[in-house]
Amino acid sequence: MINVKTRSISPELPGTDKKLGPVFHDEKWIAYRKKWDEYPAYGIVDKVPLQIDLFAVDICNLKCPMCPRQVFIPGKGYMDFSFVKAVIDQATEHGLCALNFAGLGEPTLYPELFAVIRYAKEKGVVDVNMHTNGTRLGTAFNKNLIESGLDRLIISLDSADKERYERIRVGAKFEKVYAAVEDLIKQRNEHPQTRLHIKANFIEMDESDPTEKNKFISYWENKLDRIAILRYLDCQSEEEELYHKANYNQDDNFCCPELWRRLVILSDGTATLCPRDMKKRYVIGDIDKQTVSEIWEGVMMQKARDLHRNGRFKELDLCKDCPDSYEKKSVVE
Ligand code: SF4
Repeated sequence: MINVKTRSISPELPGTDKKLGPVFHDEKWIAYRKKWDEYPAYGIVDKVPLQIDLFAVDICNLKCPMCPRQVFIPGKGYMDFSFVKAVIDQATEHGLCALNFAGLGEPTLYPELFAVIRYAKEKGVVDVNMHTNGTRLGTAFNKNLIESGLDRLIISLDSADKERYERIRVGAKFEKVYAAVEDLIKQRNEHPQTRLHIKANFIEMDESDPTEKNKFISYWENKLDRIAILRYLDCQSEEEELYHKANYNQDDNFCCPELWRRLVILSDGTATLCPRDMKKRYVIGDIDKQTVSEIWEGVMMQKARDLHRNGRFKELDLCKDCPDSYEKKSVVE
């Protein structure tokens, strides 16, 4: 068993998901989540990853200062739907469990979004999930989203304060997004079949002052299924690294579990080690020339796993200062 360390800097709070618990207790879901924990722990590498992060959309309709897109090297805009289907076909043939759709772009801008979700569900993907900024949600869109069969939606809401929200989410309108999310929750609660799980992310700008966080939690805790508290990371600043070094302890024996779980495919077909690899620093393959299995079981991927497994993750430039390898020095509540 490998000494796998999972991230400790993004605590999650249960919202109301205890009410939704039973829908995530079907056999397939339980088997998939078991693999999620066991594959990294026991070093199991299947024919394909458990999850593919398919970065099928490069564009976004907001300009948020903290978004990793600020340093992202964009691909070609949209991945063709035929290409998306081909990746899903290949991977589901070997039992793909999860599809995270769109990555660093805004998935709701993808023209065939509902068709992609339907296709993945028809092909047996247990967990079709995506992150959204929520700006395109609305009554009709929400209905289509629920009926497409999406399993999990993560919405970046970031604040329950209008002024602060609009400062962080540049281009979004607080009242519109909040009303749309409330509508989504209502439609989901009233729908007889859907198991859509809705989570919101909150970005904590100042860890020493919990006022904002507490306001956000008290607004959403009885509505959403889950709330994640994320620390603000300034991906454009070199100060970020210094902040980490001053406030967190790095675990020298860190071993990243994602290397046994997830594969990232960008819109131009490039496969990279990790969703954090905004600048394509560790390219492990090209889906135009290789199959998903060839990349996942390939030399580049295996080399990264071996380094992590042997306590040598710092030899990978991409991973050596990964926030996931740091643990908080003291908890401020
Ligand atoms: S940068 Fe490396 S250590 Fe960090 S999440 Fe990605 S693969 Fe894991």
